[in-house]
Amino acid sequence: MKEYLERTQEEYVDRIIERVIVKNPGETEFHQAVREVLESIRPFIEAHPEYEENAILERLTEPERQVYFRVPWTDDKGRIRVNRGYRIEFNSALGPYKGGLRFHPTVYPGIMKFLAFEQTFKNALTGRPIGGGKGGSDFDPKGKSDAEVMRFCQSFMTELYRHIGEKTDIPAGDIGVGAREIGYLFGQYKRITNKFEAGALTGKGINWGGSLLRTEATGYGLVYIVNEVLKDQGESFEGKKVVISGSGNAAIYAAQKAIELGAIVIAMSDSDGAVYDPQGIDLDTVIEIKEGRRGRIVEYLEVHPNADYENKSKNIWKLDCDIALPCATQNEIDIDEAKELVKNGVKIVGEGANMPSTLEAIEYFQINNVVLIPAKAANAGGVATSALEMSQNAMWDSWTFEEVDKKLKEIMTNIYQNIKITAKEYNKEDDLVFGANVVGFQKVANAMISQGLV
Ligand code: NDP
Repeated sequence: MKEYLERTQEEYVDRIIERVIVKNPGETEFHQAVREVLESIRPFIEAHPEYEENAILERLTEPERQVYFRVPWTDDKGRIRVNRGYRIEFNSALGPYKGGLRFHPTVYPGIMKFLAFEQTFKNALTGRPIGGGKGGSDFDPKGKSDAEVMRFCQSFMTELYRHIGEKTDIPAGDIGVGAREIGYLFGQYKRITNKFEAGALTGKGINWGGSLLRTEATGYGLVYIVNEVLKDQGESFEGKKVVISGSGNAAIYAAQKAIELGAIVIAMSDSDGAVYDPQGIDLDTVIEIKEGRRGRIVEYLEVHPNADYENKSKNIWKLDCDIALPCATQNEIDIDEAKELVKNGVKIVGEGANMPSTLEAIEYFQINNVVLIPAKAANAGGVATSALEMSQNAMWDSWTFEEVDKKLKEIMTNIYQNIKITAKEYNKEDDLVFGANVVGFQKVANAMISQGLV
């Protein structure tokens, strides 16, 4: 007891970071996500000894349950292929586990755990009763036929179905998992369980339990929260130069809403490279290439020969812009890219992707007075609208586009106000990273204390 009392709170955060590194060897993205949250809320933890007394950090950094499974499937040539599937049920203090599925060759436990850990706090920020989870596979849908993707999804769900359900764990999409994959996954879930349990998956088609606006929600929500920051600065999107990385779900709808609000989106990218169109990207062309025929962003030049193409995605951050919206993947902005962005006049960075900025990049932005809206707040519109989809499913109802859009706007505005006010309360004005981490952490940690040792 004496030894325990002699430990300072500062040591508590350090001990936990060390513990996470030792217990999860080689899982660098997970270490990074834990470090980012715990380092930023250190003063808050120091002021609240009850968190150490209840071993909250030890419990919060250990997933409640981790499922790893084999996914065998056959390709179009009849060859047997085997991938690995994951579902990390991280924290259910606030509600059933909720979080997307990612199909990408880089998927491994470190990425799954970082995403599930982040998701826990993001979901708390939405104000909806949802816990945190994430899943996926190292399967690469790129270059696969629809029939191959379907066979993979069916095999994946043949194991996953026993772990999910509307009151247990509700997956959705993420990188590599869009409307097509959710369709195949839902079909197999329904077939195995013999139940049309709409609330067991979100991102469904509009005619079979999906919500209007879910497709647009992550990108729109991102632009709504950036717009709140702009309003605080007495500014608007009108005439602002915006750079958006990626050209998937988050990126396309962020671009659509930013353009609608008067911005000029000058560049977008994919994992091969970036297109730069100083007159403003023609989004219809991007949608036709990426959503219409699953093509590559370089094909933009076939329609707009005056645009430029760089065959290195990260070069997108070398462009002059007012607002940067990273919407591709983790760690796409490192210190070098942060320096370029600051040098070229960026004022706001809104994180559409999860953990797109490294810790060094975040610090650099903050020192240089760039407003950074962290992913767990900035991209929470996606999961918030998934929660609205679940509400509609529970009520056997469907709301209009306008109704859902209004609710999404309210949720994003509330998130921004909450994190801003909390940052101010602790004399960390404008530190939205601190504000988001404290608000999310507090909700989850206090619920865990109330629910006892579970
Ligand atoms: P998509 O699969 O729809 O699109 C991903 C985009 O990012 C593609 O353009 C892809 O290019 C590009 N990309 C992927 N990896 C890299 C890389 N290493 N370098 C450069 N570009 C890359 O995924 P989403 O739009 O759904 O997800 C994007 C980000 O947003 C992720 O971080 C995700 O976790 C986050 N997010 C998504 C939500 C959603 O509702 N969809 C909700 C909250 C967060 P290519 O086509 O070449 O692979």
